[in-house]
Amino acid sequence: MPPPFQDERLSSWMERIADVYRVSLDGLQAHVGWARPALQLESEPVRADMERIAAATRSSVERLFAMTFHDVPPRYRTLLRPASRETCPVCSRGMQRPQRLRAWSFAFSFRCDRHRQPLFGFETRGACALGGDEASAQRGAEFLYRWAMGRDTAAVPVGSVLSLLLSPSRKASSPAPWELARLPLAHQHEPSILSRRCRRPALRIVVPEFALAVPIYDQRLPSGVADLPNAPWAERYALAVGVARVLRNPVDAILRTLEASDDFGRKKVKALLDRWPAAIRGAVDCGARRTRTRGEGGRTAQNTHFKPRLVREPSNRDAWRDRADA
Ligand SMILES: [Zn+2]
Repeated sequence: MPPPFQDERLSSWMERIADVYRVSLDGLQAHVGWARPALQLESEPVRADMERIAAATRSSVERLFAMTFHDVPPRYRTLLRPASRETCPVCSRGMQRPQRLRAWSFAFSFRCDRHRQPLFGFETRGACALGGDEASAQRGAEFLYRWAMGRDTAAVPVGSVLSLLLSPSRKASSPAPWELARLPLAHQHEPSILSRRCRRPALRIVVPEFALAVPIYDQRLPSGVADLPNAPWAERYALAVGVARVLRNPVDAILRTLEASDDFGRKKVKALLDRWPAAIRGAVDCGARRTRTRGEGGRTAQNTHFKPRLVREPSNRDAWRDRADA
């Protein structure tokens, strides 16, 4: 019987044991006699089931409980993706069935900490275009992890940053012709696509490469924090990058968002800001006044940490959209 890896999930270990006996996971369950399906057992372990597995595997019930999610903080629990099957190619080199670790089930786990390698999943959508700022993704993932574990130390609560990134910067609108350029020509005129009301959240201003990674008609951003685990990889990854960029320079990120927003979006963003620290609100007011005094383009981002190529694009697009909306 293979021993469990450090931090391995109970369901992962059970699958690997089933492989040794050349049975399915259901077959192993029937043989050992635990009642709950393995994935459910990980979230809500039942002592009687754990005792059966402990007896069959000659391990302690405590050790088995440690392979589940029974003691994680409530927010971390809501951000778990129990069905996730990401693996680390280095950890599982030479293995017939790669192990799955508990840490990798978190919605914002993108790499194996041991090998500093991106986790291998089955989703490749948007991966090329989003891969350029791995450092921000990693920093954002760390902020999100600490927040989920109830150890948030960021200057702005991470939950507020997520709300900002998901908040509309503009009214939902149908895609512009250039936003359909990647669709085959025959599909560009389909009424179902042309009539689609696409959301335009602040994320697209803070992480403009997300729009390059995933075309607007295919973006599946969650409307709230509770839906985050169900979002595809690209959406979660872009949000982690966004969290890092906003926290690196909140005032700059907000000013850029306000500049690129329409009246509808500006009201939404300002309503969220009411709950942000007073010092940041004050600096935003100050920056906004300076922008008005100097005129459009006057705020030359003296203190910006954004790469210029990352911020030029949305303003061009917004200018186009302003004309299209007019
Ligand atoms: Zn690894």
